[in-house]
Amino acid sequence: MPEELKARELRLVLGDQLNVGHPWYSQCDHQVVYVLMEVRQETDYAWHHVQKVLGFFGAMRRFAQQLREKGHRVLYLTLDDPRNTQEIPRNLRWLLEGSGAERFAYQLPDEHRLDDQLKAFAEDLDLAVEVADSAHFLTERTELARLFQGKKQYLMERFYRTMRERTGLLMDGDRPAGGRWNFDKENRGRPSKGHLAPPPLLFDHDLSGLSELVRRQGVKTMGTVDARHFPWPLDRSEALQLLDHFVDHLLPDFGRYQDALMPGQWALYHSRLSFALNLKLLDPLEVCRAVEEAWRSDPERIGIAQAEGFIRQIIGWREYMRGIYWAHMPGFAERNFFGHDRELPAWYWTGDTRMACLRDAIRGSLENAYAHHIQRLMVTGNFALLAGVHPDAVDAWYLGIYIDAIEWVEITNTRGMSQFADGGIVGTKPYVSSGAYLDRMGHHCKGCHYDVKDRIGERACPFNALYWHFHERNRSRLEGPDARPGLMTRIGRVYHTWDAMDADTREALLNKAERTLQQLNDL
Ligand code: FAD
Ligand code: SF4
Repeated sequence: MPEELKARELRLVLGDQLNVGHPWYSQCDHQVVYVLMEVRQETDYAWHHVQKVLGFFGAMRRFAQQLREKGHRVLYLTLDDPRNTQEIPRNLRWLLEGSGAERFAYQLPDEHRLDDQLKAFAEDLDLAVEVADSAHFLTERTELARLFQGKKQYLMERFYRTMRERTGLLMDGDRPAGGRWNFDKENRGRPSKGHLAPPPLLFDHDLSGLSELVRRQGVKTMGTVDARHFPWPLDRSEALQLLDHFVDHLLPDFGRYQDALMPGQWALYHSRLSFALNLKLLDPLEVCRAVEEAWRSDPERIGIAQAEGFIRQIIGWREYMRGIYWAHMPGFAERNFFGHDRELPAWYWTGDTRMACLRDAIRGSLENAYAHHIQRLMVTGNFALLAGVHPDAVDAWYLGIYIDAIEWVEITNTRGMSQFADGGIVGTKPYVSSGAYLDRMGHHCKGCHYDVKDRIGERACPFNALYWHFHERNRSRLEGPDARPGLMTRIGRVYHTWDAMDADTREALLNKAERTLQQLNDL
């Protein structure tokens, strides 16, 4: 440990804790050293997209530099630092010994894995330990569970109203602005063919040195990157530029086309702020306030349905998922309500399928480390659920491929919202559809090898027969005592339609689905 790093206190900053507004940094204390580290423990716990590894390390390096510029003392361990043991606790041990520190502090991690690891590490220490809040979320970890104590269901909509009242966002006194809490019904537009959303704002960082380091160290990654033109924001000022770009150019149509799918348009009207938010470069409340202010100052240009649709995602869904995570982990990661056990089709790793909607979503994900919500939920997630893929395999894919994937928000969305593997803790019903829904929301079907209107023929859209097969094979589970209360009221119509079909059609659909399931890799 170099002499200049002797300190009274070491403070650990994790890669998703890059919050310059944290109270830790309000004054410079020269007895404190901040520690950031690039470790194989973090690059290797999942198979990550290369842009995710570069994005995290790039932002951590920038953050360390900014702390130094503000006068803080920082120790930054690069991946190839010869002293780096590649594990957080082992690094901390030698750092604490070498620094002569009397205190160790860390911020509450957002992941169970790291929470357990740091708790165990701290318990073994003979030093004073401080665990600080990460000063980012609007709710405490256990608040959602407390709010719904004694209730059978954790309703997102109820939680969201509480959050509106608490933050005052989109409120006129004690009434919701515009007279309603939720404008979702207005938000189901399908852009006309050829409609072009404004181009996404891409940054242009040269991360070729970092990329070369990651490659040389043998970190196994997926996906592609042009490291000389890395497109994601790496610090707060860039994250704020992305927010401004969203408010100025995308928010006016955000809600309207929130559920749309357009070939080749990988970001559409979505903000692409999740990476910056999850690394805490931005504060969720400041993002929502910027959106509310834009609506209030120009309601003609930005309708309330657009602003409400966006704010609900952040103070509603995002906070809600965090609450679900802390209420149900670690058991949540074991849930497999349907007992699904298939492997993910091989083309999830290449995009080489003739199914146009899936090809576009997967290739886009491999190229950009990003897909928008409807691609994640209704294209890749929908297909994996209909095909009966094991939720572990689905989780691993989502955790690796997206630049914003951190377990607390990935697993709750994947296993919960998308795969219904939790039996309905998160979702009120499984998010599955036939091809007709995908055709209604976008423009992929016309250019597809498969025929969206056909259910049984050689070129029938695979979603169609699989949709019925899913419902038929899972009927006893969905109707059974372990299912979410009220589920049948929501999906009973599907079974009504199925039961009304003649026996030959039902048999033909099930046979078609069985053949499809045997050839998943060849679709
Ligand atoms: P926008 O559409 O612009 O939405 C604005 C913000 O709202 C997002 O940045 C995000 O912070 C928040 N948000 C929107 N929907 C959700 C949601 N369902 N849960 C939590 N926050 C939400 N989000 C992640 O941040 N990390 C993940 O690993 C992740 N995995 C997902 C996996 C699946 C199967 C599904 C269906 C969704 C997943 N999501 C995840 C939620 C959502 O799809 C992404 O937050 C969103 O696509 C990010 O893009 P954006 O910033 O352009 O979002
Ligand atoms: Fe997707 Fe089916 Fe449409 Fe092809 S026909 S794009 S597989 S929904």
